[in-house]
Amino acid sequence: MPVEAFSAGQQVTAELMLMLVRDFSVNVLLGQPTVVPPLPLLREARRRDPGLRIEKIVYGGTPMTESDKQWLREELGTRSITSILAANDGAQIGYQCERLGGTLHHVNDDYNLVEVVDEDGVPVPDGETGHLLITAMQKFEGPLIRYRIGDVGRVTVRDCSCGVSGRVLEYLGRSDGLLKFKSATVHHGDILAALEQFQVSQLQAELTTREGTETLVLRTESRVELDPATLRAALADAFPALSDAHLYDDGLRMFELVVECRPEGGLDRNPVSGKIRTVIDRRLS
Ligand SMILES: [Zn+2]
Repeated sequence: MPVEAFSAGQQVTAELMLMLVRDFSVNVLLGQPTVVPPLPLLREARRRDPGLRIEKIVYGGTPMTESDKQWLREELGTRSITSILAANDGAQIGYQCERLGGTLHHVNDDYNLVEVVDEDGVPVPDGETGHLLITAMQKFEGPLIRYRIGDVGRVTVRDCSCGVSGRVLEYLGRSDGLLKFKSATVHHGDILAALEQFQVSQLQAELTTREGTETLVLRTESRVELDPATLRAALADAFPALSDAHLYDDGLRMFELVVECRPEGGLDRNPVSGKIRTVIDRRLS
């Protein structure tokens, strides 16, 4: 493409971004939502220069929440926010056009054959959730065949209003985002989706044992002040597995849900990658 690009890598700072926009009229940003912009560096840049505008944002790596997208549209005037899916070892898997919302992506069938399989590696029917396998179609120096990338998703076939017809992949996040407790399974992404109505932008789930009781601690980040009791009630409504009902057997408490609400940036981040650990299972240690 006839565009000029500036690579900042992980050395990017709010000051550098402001300089690029001011001196080079940069209007498009590519990056991962947790490592580089948009967050939290963009928030810092916006604080320093309330006139900051970014027209288009292309991101990859992890899903971006609706709350963060809304912030970009309102505070930076961003018109287009789309995502790209890729695997380190196997090139692009899918891309999002402007018409596909949420975590839907057109599949790059010419780069990778994408399969959705169950625990035993057997393909599941279209529309069902499973582990993603890729077979690289353009990697000739060393074959990559049915490689399990560690993510879960589901594939459907549809005619997109952008004009592209074919397979669409709904990316559901890391397969280690599965929370298994008291014989129930809930996915981190589903809990985060249920909390988006409260403008939650980050969610960390920690499974632990407290005084013999299996406990799920959910920590949220949001730019608005939240009431843990309200979130707890909404989650118990949305997920029967998270409710307190039927959990007392001879007075023994079997499971407890704890919600902690923090401001933006309130969760610990990896000092190198800037990522938040989304699922922590302390029952193993
Ligand atoms: Zn499309």
